Amino acid sequence: MEVEVLERDEYNLRLLIRDVDVPFMNALRRIMISEVPCMAVDEVVMLENYSILPDETIAHRFGLIPLKTDLESYNLPEECPCKSEFGCNLCRVTLTLDAEAKEGTRTVYSNELTSENPGIVPVSEKIPIAKLAKGHKIRLEAYARLGKGKNHVKWQPVSMCAYKYFPRIEIQSKRCDVCGKCIDICPKKVLAKTDNKMEVRNLMACTMCQDCVEACPEEPKAIKVGWEENAFILNLESTGALPPERIVKEAVKILEGQLGELESQIQVKKSEEA
Ligand SMILES: [Zn+2]
Repeated sequence: MEVEVLERDEYNLRLLIRDVDVPFMNALRRIMISEVPCMAVDEVVMLENYSILPDETIAHRFGLIPLKTDLESYNLPEECPCKSEFGCNLCRVTLTLDAEAKEGTRTVYSNELTSENPGIVPVSEKIPIAKLAKGHKIRLEAYARLGKGKNHVKWQPVSMCAYKYFPRIEIQSKRCDVCGKCIDICPKKVLAKTDNKMEVRNLMACTMCQDCVEACPEEPKAIKVGWEENAFILNLESTGALPPERIVKEAVKILEGQLGELESQIQVKKSEEA
């Protein structure tokens, strides 16, 4: 397997992965979406709510706030030795909010949350929670826990995770009369004309829509768009809960664990037979 990092920033990662197949890529994608844990608010205790929003709406909004996650220091509640439904400081983080509109109407933002662990805080400080009119007040305690996307989407560490085949474009220069129709129709500006010749300028952007093939007036077509069988471009965007490369690494670990479990189960069966 060959992996090349095409793009990387705080939230996004684009990888070119060669010598793998669709089932592998899809397993990896599904694990990143549904199995890699991250922190999210799971329970809200409303102490005071003198706003126009019902308690449930505010609690729901809390679930939607992505929280920075520390996988080293916290356990999944179901795996925590405390075995308590309420949780302990190894499987639960308490965040508090005490917001009041004293002067006039104002918006309560995510930066007003106080976390007992300064490492587990909202990814962004600018997420609106509620609007308060003068005299309105919200006081609450929120409990964040680790969880998995397969149980609730608030525990999904990726806001987008998809792969596509690596495109392959062939131009038959003998048949091509460089009319430029394929350049004009391409929404991604993949093709370009240089020295009276067609060339592929931005292969990675190609979505294989085949518009350029249809636009080609030649018969048979002078351009062919296909894909490589065993190369994929993986694109993922983190919610900010975890760095994007960490999400990929965790997914690989989980897949490895699942295969290891399968292997050990098969061995048990064998020894029973013997
Ligand atoms: Zn615990």
